[in-house]
Parts: sequence; C-alpha cells; structure tokens
Amino acid sequence: MQRIVIVGGGLAGFEAARALRTQGFAGEVVMLAAEGEPPYDRPPLSKGVLAWRDVSLHFDVSAAADVDLRLGTPATGVNAGTVLTEAGSIECDGVVLAVGADPITLPGTTTLRTLTDAHQLRDSLEMGAEVAIIGAGWIGAEVAFAAAENGCSVTVYEAADSPLSAALPADLGLRTVQWYEQLGISLRLGERVDDVSALGADVVLAGLGARPATGFLSDSGIEMRPGDGAIVVDDRLRSSTPGVVAVGDCAAWWSSRYDTRLRIEHWDTALHAPAVAVAALLAGESAVKSVEPYDPVPYFWSDQFGHTIQCAGHRSATDRRVDRSEQGDWAVGWFADSADGPQLTALAVVDRPRDLTQARRLMTARTPIDPEKFADPANPVKACTLG
Ligand SMILES: Cc1cc2nc3c(=O)[nH]c(=O)nc-3n(C[C@H](O)[C@H](O)[C@H](O)COP(=O)(O)OP(=O)(O)OC[C@H]3O[C@@H](n4cnc5c(N)ncnc54)[C@H](O)[C@@H]3O)c2cc1C
Repeated sequence: MQRIVIVGGGLAGFEAARALRTQGFAGEVVMLAAEGEPPYDRPPLSKGVLAWRDVSLHFDVSAAADVDLRLGTPATGVNAGTVLTEAGSIECDGVVLAVGADPITLPGTTTLRTLTDAHQLRDSLEMGAEVAIIGAGWIGAEVAFAAAENGCSVTVYEAADSPLSAALPADLGLRTVQWYEQLGISLRLGERVDDVSALGADVVLAGLGARPATGFLSDSGIEMRPGDGAIVVDDRLRSSTPGVVAVGDCAAWWSSRYDTRLRIEHWDTALHAPAVAVAALLAGESAVKSVEPYDPVPYFWSDQFGHTIQCAGHRSATDRRVDRSEQGDWAVGWFADSADGPQLTALAVVDRPRDLTQARRLMTARTPIDPEKFADPANPVKACTLG
C-alpha cells in the first residue's frame, strides 16, 4: 500500500492516523478535514469552553503521525480507489471513513458540534440572556448547566416525559430533575416545540441528537443503513466496499457480544475502533482473520450539574433491573441469564466511578455476577462474582 486517505479530522480520524503509524504503515497518509481546524476533542466544548475555562482541545497530529493534513477540504465522494474533493481526486489504496455526525437542527436554532459553534454559543450566553434549549438529552443538559452557571435564564423543552429518555428509563431520567430545579432552570417535560419563534428567547439551542455525516457517499455504492445513514461495517469495521473501513460516530458495526449492530455516538468508540479498522485495512482480505474483532462493552459519560453520569454495556428490553443506589449517588444494573449464570449486561451510575470501572471489567470478561449481592451497595461490584 502506498497511500491511505482518512476522511474526517475528528478523534476517530486522528486515532486512525496514529494507528497507521504505530502499526508500521510507511506510505503516505492524507487526512481530509471539512473543518478549517486541526483535529480537536469535542467533550470539552460543552464542559470547558462554554464555562470560559482554558481547556486544551487540539490533538498533536504532527507529533503522532506524519500526515498530509488538508484543512477545509471535505471529501465529496468515494469511488473504487479514489476519494473525490472539489480540489481534485486522490488515488489511494485504502480509505478510512471517520466523518462523524451532523447535529439535527430546526429553523431558527443553533447547535453545538464544532469549536466555532462553541465559541459563538459561549459569547451569546451572557448574564440575563433568555436561553431556550430544545431537548433534555446529553448536550441539552450540559448546555443548560453551563448557561445557568453563566447567569442566563434557562428553559428546557423536552417532548418526552423525562430527561435523557433515549438512554435511560423514565424513572432514572426523572432523578435528574432536581438538578435543574436547584439551578432555577425551568424544565418543561412533555412539551414539543413546533414554532421556535414563539419561544421569544435570545438563544435557542437544538439538542436533538445527530445523524452520520454520510450524505456525500450516496453514489459510492458503500452500504448504508436505511433510517440513519450509518455506514454498515462488519466486526472488523470493514464496509461493503473492499479497502474502505469506517469508524466513530458514522459507523454501525456488527457486535457478536450483543448479537446486533451498534452505532455508539460516543468518545470511547472513536478512540478505540480505529486501531482495529486500520489493522483490518493493512492485513487485507487474506490475513484479516488474524485481526481481533472490535467488540467492546460500550462506554460513555456525561458531566452535568456537578455530577458525572456513566453508562456501560448494552441492554435489551427483557433484562432484569437491579438497583444498588444510595442517598445522593446511584447505580443501576441490568442482568440477563447465560449458561454460566447471571451476567451484567449494562450499568448506569451517577458519581460512582468505582462501580463503573469494576462492572465494565467484569462485563468485558463475561464474569457471572450474583444479583442479590450486587443489590447491596455495601458490596464492591468486584466482590459480587459467582463461583
Ligand atoms: C459538545 C459535545 C460534547 C460531547 N461530550 C461527550 C461526553 O461527555 N462523553 C462522550 O462519550 N462523548 C461525548 N461527545 C461525543 C464525542 O465527542 C464523539 O462521539 C466523537 O467526537 C466522535 O468522533 P468522530 O471522529 O467519529 O466524529 P467527529 O468528532 O464529529 O469528527 C468528524 C470530523 O469529520 C469531518 N467531516 C465530516 N464530513 C466530512 C467530509 N465529507 N470530508 C472530510 N471531513 C468531514 C467533520 O467536520 C468532523 O470534523 C460529545 C460531543 C459533542 C459535540
């Protein structure tokens, strides 16, 4: 292989570049980045930038890998062995698609995805400003907190009957309502916004989620999932087109662990998936079986209202729920039976990092856990194993 093109200059693209070099690829690496900004980290946008904190965001691409980084140069298409841009086409032997996701928007709203978005939003969150946030998901909650801390008058509209409804059962999401109340934020559950102009706010943020930024691939022949447009990849992150892999927010991979296809729009996936995708790309068809599949226990976190929520695993509707919460902080697990005994399939915690770390390790190793012991928060999770 002489040249590999990475499409996307976010965390997954950066990690792909790094993996190419650490795995011994000596050819040319071209990275196409739609933004005019070198690769940077997104979680600090809502947690640090909006709070006027001096955060370090940018990854050191030049120190990590020798990369021909082309800023402000989006790919406009991919054909066999060629990546298209408005500045011309680039022939290559392999492609890593790491294009992330675009926020869902509504007319008259702003969104938070990029550093430019974060700077603009921060400048508008002035003391006394009326801020409306549509959606009490992860981004909506983090921005509501930052806006309230900046002295804004904040109203959050959520169509569902509880915050964080895409990720947590209603009763768990409702446990966060007190955090809004403590900061004087008006949280209007069950209220869907149809007319943004009627809100009469100085700033309206849409926190409605994001969709894979894969529109430019529509003529590429690469298989995409109907519905969300995610790039369909196998357990080694290979797309339907040979020599093209996909990672991060834009990809939906096959998980043998959960016997389903997963798209996890979170940092940990963008960090770890590229090493597997790059190994599969470099191995080629004949040696790909030697590459360990990407099959993690998914993980993500959110910092909001002075608390850290962490979630790991993947649960199904039939899994049994076991609560080991205490006053103030909480931890809830979900269990399914296996031939070896009960297995923890998922865990959600607030301010219990130790529970999360221990449970994630046991889930990864598929260690059976005693649900009764687990239910007692006095027992460390690692002491709840069976056998
Ligand atoms: C404000 C914010 C806070 C977050 N906080 C958390 C958190 O607390 N915990 C957590 O787990 N996750 C968090 N996330 C999610 C996490 O940041 C993402 O999952 C991660 O950034 C995904 O990385 P990625 O490289 O796949 O995509 P991205 O970071 O979106 O990078 C993709 C890049 O590709 C570029 N691109 C798109 N199309 C093209 C094209 N055609 N050609 C070239 N380039 C293109 C995009 O402009 C973008 O720069 C947060 C996200 C945001 C926005």
